[in-house]
Amino acid sequence: MDPLTGSVQHYAWGSRTALPAFLGVEPDGRPQAELWLGAHPGAPSQVAGSPLPDRIDADPTGVVGGASVEAFGPRLPYLLKVLAAGEPLSLQAHPTRAQAEDGYAREQAAGVDPGAPTRLYRDDWPKPEMFMALGDIEALCGFREPDTTYALFSRLGVTAASELVAPLQGGGPEQLAEVFARVLRLAEGDREVVAQVVTAAAELIEAGEGRTDDELALFARTAVELDEHYPGDPGVLAALLMNRIGYGRFQALFLPAGNLHAYLHGIGVEVMANSDNVMRGGLTPKHVDVGELLAVLDFTPGVPDLVEVVEEGAGVWRYPTPAPEFALWRLDADAEAVTVPAAGSGRIVLVVEGSVEVFDGSRATTLKQGESVFGYPGDVVTVTGAGGTGTVVVAAPGL
Ligand SMILES: [Zn+2]
Repeated sequence: MDPLTGSVQHYAWGSRTALPAFLGVEPDGRPQAELWLGAHPGAPSQVAGSPLPDRIDADPTGVVGGASVEAFGPRLPYLLKVLAAGEPLSLQAHPTRAQAEDGYAREQAAGVDPGAPTRLYRDDWPKPEMFMALGDIEALCGFREPDTTYALFSRLGVTAASELVAPLQGGGPEQLAEVFARVLRLAEGDREVVAQVVTAAAELIEAGEGRTDDELALFARTAVELDEHYPGDPGVLAALLMNRIGYGRFQALFLPAGNLHAYLHGIGVEVMANSDNVMRGGLTPKHVDVGELLAVLDFTPGVPDLVEVVEEGAGVWRYPTPAPEFALWRLDADAEAVTVPAAGSGRIVLVVEGSVEVFDGSRATTLKQGESVFGYPGDVVTVTGAGGTGTVVVAAPGL
């Protein structure tokens, strides 16, 4: 095992205070969106002072583990992040493995510069992801039942909007796709409807009508809040077709390929397949390709289930998902030593609360919240609460 140092990404939507508070450092005035821990070429972490990708190149099996190298080649298949949203993130979805391989080959053949802002498939990997909350989280995720959405729009009383979403009445996935595409493709001259919806939503909130109806109140709030950041963006209407969900500390949401999502605010740990493939649908200054987004989206309506956390042993909680690229555990440590799972793989151990002592059989080191180590395959690593209790997350290949 070796100490691991990640790097912070200063995306504009990042909170200026949440990540510095998590890391125990002074805010520097800039937004701090994500701490990356892993071997992604965009921001590789350092292990004991040298880049993790160099270590992997030199000895893939000795760093990542035999099973993972056999399945995914000489690379770390996962990326672990701490994500702190101060503003809503873009509406986005990620491709399946087959879609990514196909799209990447297509863009390579067409000669699209891998660094170009319009490039969609930066690699040929899927990007399933799971987000575990460290506090209260709110997110938009998947599509609401079309009939319910139609009824909510009707209650706003904006004729142009009701006409726009009319196919949703009695509709299914096909009609959702139709309305979603219509909304995102609104011509410049037809976007007045966005402002009309936002005005009606603000009036509804003001009148206090929302307070007696949770779903309508949330619907109206979503319109008003998103419009504050992206005034007039058709993505505001697209977001109103989606479920708005909230969940709490240590609960997690798994986002499979094709799921449309956007985090609204909160801090949490995100683990994903090590890919950059993001199709955006609005609420962002970045490149939006509606056609490609439609090609990867799953329009089946419904509220996603939270991950069913399984207690594998005393203080060891597994967050199972179908993704083979990653696995995630949470370990609650006190005076009793807890063994870090996945001993055959390269693991990242990150302290998310309190302090722990980490021991690999020969070396012991004390880590506080925000600090991490990399455990090599074969290392038997244990954690114990240092002077109280400590909570760590452990990421490893899913195989
Ligand atoms: Zn995503």
